[in-house]
Amino acid sequence: MTTSKFCIVPLPTEVTETARRSAANGESDHAIMVADSPNGYPCRHCLRFARSGERVILFPYAAIPPDHPYSESGPIFVHAEPCQRYTATREFPADLRKGRAMRAYNSKFDMIDAEIVNGSEPETIIEKFFENPETAFVDVRSVIRGCYTFRIQRA
Ligand SMILES: [Zn+2]
Repeated sequence: MTTSKFCIVPLPTEVTETARRSAANGESDHAIMVADSPNGYPCRHCLRFARSGERVILFPYAAIPPDHPYSESGPIFVHAEPCQRYTATREFPADLRKGRAMRAYNSKFDMIDAEIVNGSEPETIIEKFFENPETAFVDVRSVIRGCYTFRIQRA
């Protein structure tokens, strides 16, 4: 199923490259790890799971900026080696269709709705959230660990 009503927003390349530099400089909040399972280390830049044996960087990212009631910073992974930013922005990333929670926010960064992708198609939830004119964007997170995965905006 493809739709053109939304746009996937992967982590910006400059944020990814800054994380790689910080990890190379040994900053204490940037850990270099080796993926040891095929679906435990989703890279927020290319939106694919790191393969077992690939190096990833774990670092904190403020998906919801400071100074708001729903402000939130939490751990995310990116590949330690250069990777291509996800380009199929009109398609929900194939690797990440399962095990995700989706949260709708208004333009003031208030969470106004939330749902777990549980048997339903993620596109159906996105469409429903965007039917509400208050929804400014939707954040996709890991349902188990709660970590930010990527953002969805209106197309
Ligand atoms: Zn990557």
